[in-house]
Amino acid sequence: MNIPDTKEPRIVIIGGGFGGMNLIKNLKKTGYQVVLLDKRNFHTFQPLLYQVSTSGLEPESIAYPLRKIIRKQKNMHFRLAEVNRIDTNLQKIRTDIGDLHYDHLVIATGTRTNFFGNKTIEENAVWMKSLPQALNIRSLMFENLEKANRTEDPVKRKELLRFVIAGAGPTGVELSGALAELKSNVLQADYPDMDISEIEIHLIEGADRVLPPFSKQSSEKAQKFLEDMGVTIHLETFVGNYENNLVTTKGDLSFNTATFIWSAGVTGASIEGFEVTSLVPKLNRYKVDVYNRVAGFQNIYAIGDIALMESEEYPKGHPQLAQPAIQQGKNLSKNFKKMLRGEELNPFKYFDKGSMATIGRNKAVVDMGKIHFGGFFAWFIWMFIHLWFLVGFRNRMVTFFNWTYSYINYDKAARLIVRPFKQNKIIAEED
Ligand SMILES: Cc1cc2nc3c(=O)[nH]c(=O)nc-3n(C[C@H](O)[C@H](O)[C@H](O)COP(=O)(O)OP(=O)(O)OC[C@H]3O[C@@H](n4cnc5c(N)ncnc54)[C@H](O)[C@@H]3O)c2cc1C
Repeated sequence: MNIPDTKEPRIVIIGGGFGGMNLIKNLKKTGYQVVLLDKRNFHTFQPLLYQVSTSGLEPESIAYPLRKIIRKQKNMHFRLAEVNRIDTNLQKIRTDIGDLHYDHLVIATGTRTNFFGNKTIEENAVWMKSLPQALNIRSLMFENLEKANRTEDPVKRKELLRFVIAGAGPTGVELSGALAELKSNVLQADYPDMDISEIEIHLIEGADRVLPPFSKQSSEKAQKFLEDMGVTIHLETFVGNYENNLVTTKGDLSFNTATFIWSAGVTGASIEGFEVTSLVPKLNRYKVDVYNRVAGFQNIYAIGDIALMESEEYPKGHPQLAQPAIQQGKNLSKNFKKMLRGEELNPFKYFDKGSMATIGRNKAVVDMGKIHFGGFFAWFIWMFIHLWFLVGFRNRMVTFFNWTYSYINYDKAARLIVRPFKQNKIIAEED
């Protein structure tokens, strides 16, 4: 890997997501050698992936080059590498570009999409976990619109104009809201010879409300916003299969659709090589103590979505959201510095800043402790916070400009098929 051997203890971080990035940013000019490995050379701001899929933003505006974070840092290195195995006996990680020894290892690999073992969904649906996948959804939707526009077969057209989304968590809700806006604000003008009212957007959810982790008030508000925008919601409905453009559910409902988006769950992106005791089955999250040390190890840590820290307040671990990952990354950086000074470590304490989801123009919901509100003010806060947390000044400016332009003109700039849609099997391999 061409990483120099120095006298400084080596910290290897796997993953430059919210956790890994906030760790490495705060380890500059310390007595460590820090090596960041990621299978992509950029950080992805996942909360705005749905805007890339629905042509609200260009992909570059929600990505940030990882090498830029460690610029001018002599004791920091980045390597584009996928880690396949951790050998805890030899204190080595094995990657597609070679092996590397570690003194401290931090696993910050986040999650991957969970299909709950359903092969038909994995092979035929589309999902959104990375920029290539978000772009793939965009290509599929616009290719289907083009096909619908040229077909003379009304049954085929219906299938091409029906969008079905499984999972009404924040991703499913935000995606269906953005699609509804695209339909009402942009598509009629783009396709004057097509009856846009034929477009259907269906949101399927197994729970009895949308946004299940949110307060009841916010769920109800979000549902009303979506229904007013023309989204059809199917609650307490479980998807069975998706094959030959047919979504079947475990009830009587079924949908013929050429666009089925799966946003119904994630599972930890764990790496092979650990004893099974530290990995919680099904969830694929590593059990960690209050210092984010993986159970049974003194020099291996897990932060963010992949970590499961049980506490009285969070018996099932922290929510798999950006804030716990950011805060754990920052806390671990402080602890690494304390270790060098021989000081007592800081136990991690999560500060819950609240949850929010946007449904569309002037429509969002916010939960902050016992306070719940929705509408324009919530939407304004949502925009401000997302701009604030986007990495990089350029990205903030470009996104701000895009959103202002769209708000004034009711337009979405990036409705481009940059490359043709690729079957998921291919894109998953590339990814
Ligand atoms: C579509 C979507 C919308 C979301 N919306 C919100 C939201 O509105 N609000 C919110 O708070 N949270 C949201 N989340 C969740 C949030 O993005 C995650 O909680 C957060 O990214 C977790 O940070 P992390 O550092 O643990 O992992 P990630 O940010 O996922 O980073 C993991 C990194 O590890 C790398 N990696 C993984 N495996 C390997 C490997 N084997 N080798 C090398 N590199 C590897 C990946 O390339 C990635 O860069 C959303 C997530 C998604 C997918």
